[in-house]
Amino acid sequence: MNNDKISSVIDTLFSEMTRSFLGFNPKDKKISKQHNNLVKLFLTGLGTENINSEERDILKAVLSSTYDYIDSIRLKTRARVNSRLNGLESDYKKREMPISANKIRTIIGEELTTAGNSMLLTVNAEATKIRNLSTAMKIEKIGLGKGIKDPYVFFIVTLDGKTAESPEKTLHLIKGTTIPRIWKLSDIKGGHYIKGEKKPAFLPHPFCRCVLTPMMPGWGFDDKGKIKYKGVKHDEYLYQKKKFNL
Ligand SMILES: [Zn+2]
Repeated sequence: MNNDKISSVIDTLFSEMTRSFLGFNPKDKKISKQHNNLVKLFLTGLGTENINSEERDILKAVLSSTYDYIDSIRLKTRARVNSRLNGLESDYKKREMPISANKIRTIIGEELTTAGNSMLLTVNAEATKIRNLSTAMKIEKIGLGKGIKDPYVFFIVTLDGKTAESPEKTLHLIKGTTIPRIWKLSDIKGGHYIKGEKKPAFLPHPFCRCVLTPMMPGWGFDDKGKIKYKGVKHDEYLYQKKKFNL
């Protein structure tokens, strides 16, 4: 059986998916804004198409790490398909029968489905990550423009059966309520959230759908967690600290 040919088909499939999803070619480091891809998501979050060199470097770093994830799925898929096809081949040889084309198709189909599901998880997590990163950068910019050195932020949490206990119900929301907890931008740690930590992180935990959002001075939440204007001098961060003993 020609395993090289099958591997090259898998490689082509992955390289097409990578290009359309990332908008970034890790070989020549070129960024494409054409499609509805991660680059576009980053620029939308940032609120501008004109990014400076620092923003470009951050974008490239995120895209490279996403590329590495996808590439590891590609290598795993290749290895699994090859090992299953080799097993199939020796099995048929032992029985002195010609190998069944249908069986080959089934194996490739199964492995591509598994790969597709892993890709989907990666895509979702990376999209959340890039959206939150670019939003944080925008919040910082807007804040500085208004003379706010350390803006207030919160996470919009999707509440359903999949909402995580930690960090969503314990850190993104005030524990035991549906009220988003206010954080200072500098409180949010870089990297991924690790279970048990006392502060939230920019990068998502598994299955995260949380969206980082700025909280403007004067605004706050009602007791259900709906956003509400509370007056020029209102400081929701201090208000929550006192009211909920944070
Ligand atoms: Zn989350």
